[in-house]
Amino acid sequence: MAARSSRLSLALLLVLGAAGLCAAKEYDFFYLVVQWPGSYCDTKQSCCYPKSGKPAADFVIHGLWPNYIDGSYPLNCDPDSEFDPSKVSDLLSSLRAHWPTLACPANDGVSFWRHQWDKYGTCAAGVVDEHDYFQAALRLRDQLSVLSALTAAGVNPDGGYYTLGQIKDAIQQRTGFEPYVECNRDKSGNSQLYQVSFCVDPAGDRLMECPVLPHGKACGSRIKFPAFLLLIFSPS
Ligand code: AMP
Repeated sequence: MAARSSRLSLALLLVLGAAGLCAAKEYDFFYLVVQWPGSYCDTKQSCCYPKSGKPAADFVIHGLWPNYIDGSYPLNCDPDSEFDPSKVSDLLSSLRAHWPTLACPANDGVSFWRHQWDKYGTCAAGVVDEHDYFQAALRLRDQLSVLSALTAAGVNPDGGYYTLGQIKDAIQQRTGFEPYVECNRDKSGNSQLYQVSFCVDPAGDRLMECPVLPHGKACGSRIKFPAFLLLIFSPS
């Protein structure tokens, strides 16, 4: 009888231990990735402005992505937790302005937000719900003011060329955090400033130093900072 109950206790401990380990391994931090729309739009793939109109010439949000400190990351964690626009109804005008879709054909942005929530947000859903997830990204983007950090240091979106050091220093000076800078290529093959990533604590409250750097296309020695001007292609 004593042996049986101690076997039961051991089994219970193993089950509880495994559950505890799973809960603890939810994710370790987020990457907040902001994007220069001029560099999304002047590549070979081009872009479409959202139905709400051309976004302002400022950095926009690409995503808020949960990560582990070993560099790996969870994806598509909960197919039952579908993106529900009614849960972010108070944020929709900010989402349109600062997390706009630039994909073609032109649309209202819901499919981009749904993609981001389904693929990444659901992996944070045990810590932040859908509303807090989108609100955190919007708040952190505002706080970072990446464009004004750059322009204050003379790094302007005017088609000029800058070094990686100039870009990183300008952002670090203003935000206090070392960013990860990713480049892509314009139609002529020039390396240009595309995305800037920062690390955020798991609750989505505070910026933090990155425990591990993200993956992304490295930059050339001369980095173009293009203007965000032309509507290149806009099928309705
Ligand atoms: P992700 O799963 O976030 O890595 O998304 C990658 C996809 O999102 C690629 O197909 C990108 O072209 C697309 N993407 C990146 N930025 C935007 C944007 N601002 N609007 C719409 N789609 C985007």
